[in-house]
Amino acid sequence: MATNRKRLLVPNVMGEGGRKLLMARDDVEVVPFPTTISSGEFHALLQAGGEVECALARSMQVVARIGVGYDAIDVPALTRRRIPLMLVGTANSSSVAEHALFLMLTLAKRAAELHALVRAGRWAERLTAVPIDLLGKTVLVIGFGRTGTRVAKRCLAMEMNVMVYDPYLPAETVRAAGCELVSDLDVALPRADFVTIHCPKTAETIAMFGAARLQRMKKTAYLVNTARGGIVDESALHAALTAGTIAGAGIDVFDPEPPPPDHPLLKLANLVTSPHMAGVTRESIDRMAVQAARNVLSVFDGKPIRENAVNPEVFENA
Ligand code: NAD
Repeated sequence: MATNRKRLLVPNVMGEGGRKLLMARDDVEVVPFPTTISSGEFHALLQAGGEVECALARSMQVVARIGVGYDAIDVPALTRRRIPLMLVGTANSSSVAEHALFLMLTLAKRAAELHALVRAGRWAERLTAVPIDLLGKTVLVIGFGRTGTRVAKRCLAMEMNVMVYDPYLPAETVRAAGCELVSDLDVALPRADFVTIHCPKTAETIAMFGAARLQRMKKTAYLVNTARGGIVDESALHAALTAGTIAGAGIDVFDPEPPPPDHPLLKLANLVTSPHMAGVTRESIDRMAVQAARNVLSVFDGKPIRENAVNPEVFENA
């Protein structure tokens, strides 16, 4: 085996298209690993050739996520070592946007209850679970990035009024998309029939939705979180769903994941959920894999895809 081959640890969940791109390179040694391994086992993988982990970290050239969220990654530690952290751009944005809309529709159309009524032979009781329309309702989109913009576009197609809360964007960007920018979240919340979260998990957004914010929502409103667990405080959400403070919630993400099987939220009829799958579709698995592989190879080849790096400053004077 050539000693100058780049050793690339690749999780076994990477889609076929990305794996093929990497395997086609003579100068890359692909080392697959299951994502379920312990951190100890992962450290052992890092210690190739008997090198200690720190020494290996010094020779590490790139870290690539097969995804876009990076709240679990110590970016300053990578930046200090001039290691880029690469993300997959828009590879899963539309998938997440569709999933957010799916959760909104599932809640609005009372999908689970109506499905269960028919199966249980309780057709006559159908008027006990009358759905609502999205038409004419107001949605508040939190975070207007790759995903939030796509959610807004889909909500506009449903003839909804779209409000956007994103303190980091110029008003013009939001207005040009046909939406209303709101600068005060607490003032906007009582106006919303749906709230859908698409901001990153940061020190600022952890527990953004706690008891006080949930209390400001309409009793008839639905909350959807496909961003990250922890942005919504789970015990406050449980209390709000139980007390009827809000009508229901669609939750793709938990903190921690997976939630324990006896998690109180999972027992509530007005909660619909999925196992952190919003960004994962047959198509997006492949788009993400190909983009992640291209990101890694671009660094190896000295032509980094700068726009996909979280810390592009590491490329300066490299
Ligand atoms: P993005 O970086 O393109 O957009 C995030 C937007 O949020 C930006 O416009 C930013 O200005 C805004 N923002 C930052 N702080 C904010 C705050 N305090 N309040 C309101 N807005 C704020 O990211 P994206 O690709 O749209 O993804 C958003 C998040 O969704 C990711 O960080 C990730 O955690 C999550 N995600 C989840 C899945 C899934 O499968 N469930 C998939 C992809 C992404």
